[in-house]
Amino acid sequence: MPLAQADSLLRGNAWPRRRSHKRPPRFDDDATDAAVEEAPIPSAAPCVRCRASAEGIGTFWHATDWHLNEFEPSSPSPCDMCRSTIVGTECAERAGPFGHPDCDPSTGGWQEAIAMMRREQPTPDFILAGGDWIGHIPESRLNPPALLSAAVLLNRLLSDHFAGVPVMHTVGNHDTWPYFSLAPVFMDWDRAFEKSQGNEWVRATFPGKARTHWQQHGYYARRLSRRLWGISLNTNELSKTDGGQQLDWLRTMLDRMRQDRQTAILLGHIPPGPSHFEFDSICAAGHYYQRAGGACWNPMAQSGLLALLAAYADVVPNSFFGHHHTSSLRVVYNSSAAARHVMYLSPSLTPRNPTHDPAVRLYYYNRSSGAVVDFVDYSHDLRQSNAAGRINWRVEAALRKAPLNLSSLSAVAWESAARRMLEYDHAPQSQRELDPHDPFLSWMSSERCKMEVYIASGDSRVPPLRRCKLAVLCPMLHLEDAPYAQCLGVR
Ligand SMILES: [Zn+2]
Repeated sequence: MPLAQADSLLRGNAWPRRRSHKRPPRFDDDATDAAVEEAPIPSAAPCVRCRASAEGIGTFWHATDWHLNEFEPSSPSPCDMCRSTIVGTECAERAGPFGHPDCDPSTGGWQEAIAMMRREQPTPDFILAGGDWIGHIPESRLNPPALLSAAVLLNRLLSDHFAGVPVMHTVGNHDTWPYFSLAPVFMDWDRAFEKSQGNEWVRATFPGKARTHWQQHGYYARRLSRRLWGISLNTNELSKTDGGQQLDWLRTMLDRMRQDRQTAILLGHIPPGPSHFEFDSICAAGHYYQRAGGACWNPMAQSGLLALLAAYADVVPNSFFGHHHTSSLRVVYNSSAAARHVMYLSPSLTPRNPTHDPAVRLYYYNRSSGAVVDFVDYSHDLRQSNAAGRINWRVEAALRKAPLNLSSLSAVAWESAARRMLEYDHAPQSQRELDPHDPFLSWMSSERCKMEVYIASGDSRVPPLRRCKLAVLCPMLHLEDAPYAQCLGVR
């Protein structure tokens, strides 16, 4: 179903009626300049439209890894609609109206996600479009027009349903042809976005020099308010090269922002460092992630970015990535081992790799400092939704509860919460299973662990829950190979 069919969907009755768009909230330039460490988690329950801009708190959606399957058959089976590893009798479970747990979201799945986003927060300050738009469709269907069609469709979904709200794009590893390459697809996106949304829209989305940088390199920076900039990185380039030119540009931008007393948020697709869904996720030669072709960053690019994020944490306190499909974060330290920056990894609407409930995340942030002060994941149980024929979106607020007990979302607070969990019985080589009172298990259940850490690698004598705990917590605390390996007990 490339664009012609997408057109009819965008216009057709299948869509919820578009409501009149309110103007996005005005940015409050006089908002308090609270330090990142001092920004408390708002005590109220998640409240979206009512959270006053007078508080200096804004919101933004992060839509990432939707993997749109425009070629879904009318009666889809996971054995023919997506490149799933399931085979034979396992294919007996047919996809429901919102998709299949081992595949990409169906058309109904992403329609409902857009409708939910419009219901819950129709006027965010901006939207981060995190990349990976093409589905895991049959190889025979994969070609440059199919990739471009998915990116254009996603852009139209967001820009038509959130009129006037800035959308920031970044390119994912699935968005290039050949797959995960340096192909300059952003030039094709630029032309196609202009054709689809018009020149005025493209000029507003990539204002000034942003358009030249985007067209030439796939990375760019643009103002999101008088105080705040958005920076989008090309993480395919940072994975495959030392990214020298990109990082020099980033340093120049951050320098200028600091001089002008500006702040920024940073967007990318592939996060640096190890993954959180496999035990031996070290990028060094001989380890599983490297052998399996995991999207590791180039070591020079990785250390270069981490140094910049630590040095400029006053300008850019947080960054936002996708790619791994489930929620996590990474703490970045300065040379004195002080926690300075938090990278957030947002969950995907795609319910596979690892198997999880489809989700879309809304962030709350301080409009002056650019720092995240809260976030909410809207998710649903796909099998239940399919059986009921409707989606019951669920909201979880775990940040203030035990064992996290976070009083703020600063880097220091996250580091100490993760360390507290890790250090309760941190015995990485032990063959004894975690005790049931381990605080990690009240944060991630044993049932969730079975799904979350889905790739078997490393020392199999370490029992499953202990492996899960290390696999999940060590990458949050250690982005670089040596301390990460030490945390896992494999070096
Ligand atoms: Zn993805």
